[in-house]
Amino acid sequence: MSKSKSLSKKTRIKPSLAIKPMGRLQSLVERQRRATKIFTRLAQVMPEPRCELHYKTPYQLLISVVLSAQTTDKSVNKCMAPLYDAGLTPEQVVAMGAKTFESKIKTIGLAPTKAKNVIGLTQILLEQFGGKVPDNREDLEALPGVGRKTANVVLAEIFHQPTLAVDTHVFRVGMRLGLHAAPTPQKAELILLEVIDPRFLPAAHHWLILHGRYTCKAAKPDCPQCKISDLCPSFTKL
Ligand code: SF4
Repeated sequence: MSKSKSLSKKTRIKPSLAIKPMGRLQSLVERQRRATKIFTRLAQVMPEPRCELHYKTPYQLLISVVLSAQTTDKSVNKCMAPLYDAGLTPEQVVAMGAKTFESKIKTIGLAPTKAKNVIGLTQILLEQFGGKVPDNREDLEALPGVGRKTANVVLAEIFHQPTLAVDTHVFRVGMRLGLHAAPTPQKAELILLEVIDPRFLPAAHHWLILHGRYTCKAAKPDCPQCKISDLCPSFTKL
């Protein structure tokens, strides 16, 4: 998802992004209380947060999330719009084959690998799931090119399950807000799921991504314009 670079379980965050909140991390209860204030505020500012990947069917969303690794939502949307507008189906993708599909996504990075994964996962969907996207983590993560983050996005966006996909924005913003100090995305996910009240899920994923993309940017966070600066331990320290 959008500069939402896929972060594997073992990924270590670059020093430039590993900006920890100053001072000690608050207790779980204190962080839970502050998180509730943060997401209540973000809900007022962004009442209807949306996934910025365009899609018309669950299958198309799954493909777009797989394609979005190491690139932007914008470039995926641009590339896939004509295919989705024409009603791209799993059957059509398999009929195309890897080489033809690769030629259609050549503007996206890692096209050969991604094309191979999309064809592979689509074949499995057709053979085992009647062409439908499965609604559980186990089946999703068994698909080629689908890791925990992609599965979380699909479970949240399509099936409205209370998950939290931790991409680079969610990781960075969660850390700057002092909600976690985990070394990896997967550990951050587990901590954030403890800290965030379930009533804010799965929307919290979008709020953190959008806040990270447009305000709490990696290189230069816009603290003076930030709507939650009074709740952020990193304010004035970046
Ligand atoms: S105050 Fe600054 S560091 Fe904290 S969330 Fe806002 S933009 Fe990010």
